[in-house]
Amino acid sequence: MIRPAFFFDRDGVVNLDPDPEPYVVSWDQWKWTPGLFDLLADVKARGFATILVTSQRCVGKGLLLPQDLEILHGRMQEILGDLAFDTIRVHTGLPNDPIPPKPDPGMIVSAMEEHALDLSRSWLIGDADRDIAMANAAGVPHTIRVLGLKPVTVPALHAVRTLMQVQPLLETILGPRPARA
Ligand SMILES: [Mg+2]
Repeated sequence: MIRPAFFFDRDGVVNLDPDPEPYVVSWDQWKWTPGLFDLLADVKARGFATILVTSQRCVGKGLLLPQDLEILHGRMQEILGDLAFDTIRVHTGLPNDPIPPKPDPGMIVSAMEEHALDLSRSWLIGDADRDIAMANAAGVPHTIRVLGLKPVTVPALHAVRTLMQVQPLLETILGPRPARA
């Protein structure tokens, strides 16, 4: 069955930016963003596929081995449990990386091809211009920008300060959250 997706950027959305460090290169630096678990439960109850779309150029720069990134994401998924992402797409910055960098829509398109996604009913949440630009390039109409330290040049359809503001927004636009089967 074709279904819509909810695309999540990682750093600044799923986990807090490791500021002042540029990258999360070990699990000790991982801090869940408040409200993430509730938001994932909400969008899954609404029937969205959940897709993580993240740039981790730390791999291409040699700061994190590809296998260590997989271990990090494995830990994330294990803790999320029932709320784990359906798919993860990563641009690593390695020379042979088949996934192009944001704002190229390649991450979204490749997830769509694998999961039969209806992009016209899909959403993306991110905290950077390139996230919103990628959604625009892919034809994902519902965009949410998490406002933070990054300057906004590419505005999203919606803006929030915290993830806790997203569920009321979904309720207004999509109606009450269905009880989970
Ligand atoms: Mg980000």
